[in-house]
Amino acid sequence: MSDLMQCADCGKRISKSAAACPHCGAPNKAAKRKKRGNTQGAGCLLLLVGGGLVLAGISPGVGGFLAVIGLVVLVVGFFL
Ligand SMILES: [Zn+2]
Repeated sequence: MSDLMQCADCGKRISKSAAACPHCGAPNKAAKRKKRGNTQGAGCLLLLVGGGLVLAGISPGVGGFLAVIGLVVLVVGFFL
């Protein structure tokens, strides 16, 4: 009931938790800030890169150094 706000673009009422305005499609900045979307994207990317490095590091002939770097990247990505 009190969970409504005005869209910054078209001025219509939208839900505070909506990611975007259902009327005009403008992104809802208030909802975005809560979710830390950018940081989560970077964390996912780091998890992917770290996983790839670990896989490359444990394959024969490459050595364990890459795997160690991959593990560090994985941990950093996990806590982002
Ligand atoms: Zn709108």
